[in-house]
Amino acid sequence: MRTSASLTRIIGLANVVVVTVAIIGLSLMPSPVRPHAGPPVRAKTEESTPQPSLTPVGPPPGIVATPEFARQVRANELGRVPILMYHRIVRKRMASLDRTPDQLRAELEKLAKKGYVPITAREFAIGDIRVPAGKFPVVLTFDDGHHSHFALDASGNPAPDTAVAVIQEVAARHPGFRPVATFWINKEPFGLRDEASQAAAVRWLVDHGYEVANHTWGHPNLRALKKKKVREQIVRLERLLKKLGVPPSRTMALPYGAMPHGKKVARRGSWDGTRYDFAGVFLAGAEPSLSPYAKKFDPGAIQRIQSNGKKGECRKWCSQHWLEWLDKHPGERYVSDGDPDRISIPGNLRGNIIAKRGLQVIAY
Ligand SMILES: [Zn+2]
Repeated sequence: MRTSASLTRIIGLANVVVVTVAIIGLSLMPSPVRPHAGPPVRAKTEESTPQPSLTPVGPPPGIVATPEFARQVRANELGRVPILMYHRIVRKRMASLDRTPDQLRAELEKLAKKGYVPITAREFAIGDIRVPAGKFPVVLTFDDGHHSHFALDASGNPAPDTAVAVIQEVAARHPGFRPVATFWINKEPFGLRDEASQAAAVRWLVDHGYEVANHTWGHPNLRALKKKKVREQIVRLERLLKKLGVPPSRTMALPYGAMPHGKKVARRGSWDGTRYDFAGVFLAGAEPSLSPYAKKFDPGAIQRIQSNGKKGECRKWCSQHWLEWLDKHPGERYVSDGDPDRISIPGNLRGNIIAKRGLQVIAY
């Protein structure tokens, strides 16, 4: 835990850095626009150096947050983030988890209009959140690699009414809505059997800024398995991803949201000489996640929200309920300061921030 004296020092230092970076930034800034799908410059909570280098790495920031600016946009980077969980996207719903393409489209339209900007689960888990000032991050996640999530048509574009086609459509109508999502897959990605089409599919997704990551090989209930079998299930899928040209997974979703005995085994481990190390392990329910900068945030058990209406069990647990709740409780929602290198928070939340070196905090 940080004492308030050291926090004050950090904030003082951050302000000096802000001014310095602002001056350098102004003289170097070729464009205020930052490409969305570009490589990460530097994560806030991971792989970050204690002090920022004044030599810009990658694109310069569009905005350098100051306390005045953070207050103006009501930045709260300790607020909650909805991580939406989707399964099959089918015209005729067979199970309550199923959503139709129209339902997905309507939900994404609503998110876009309200000012949500998608980021991937990986970006969320490592704290690399690049969302314009005053906007809210949202994570769109699709489990099980169903063929309704993604397919390429004859001309090499996402097939109509697949999840990816719907996301791309909504983004085309709302330029601020970044077309990215996370697909957690199993042994037959997107229902494809042959390796060449599997590789082509994941290549398209990765090239377009989507995340493809680990949902285990055979989708077992990990709680029912011995640790060694858990590791095997994760590593087999990592090996498939590698064969298909996907970088090592930084995130995984637990099948059925079931945590294995000995929670750590889901996050890090190795089997048969292959290691895995996830920045985030995701559950299946049932509320908006804490910010990755919050002291109480647990990267080994990250909350998600099932996409659904308000019927039955979903009355208080699914996306319609929670998105309405966040609208009614704007002070609880994550609001970006537009500056990926600084964390802006209302002063009264100072004590809730993760104690980790290298975070540049702006409290107002
Ligand atoms: Zn699943």
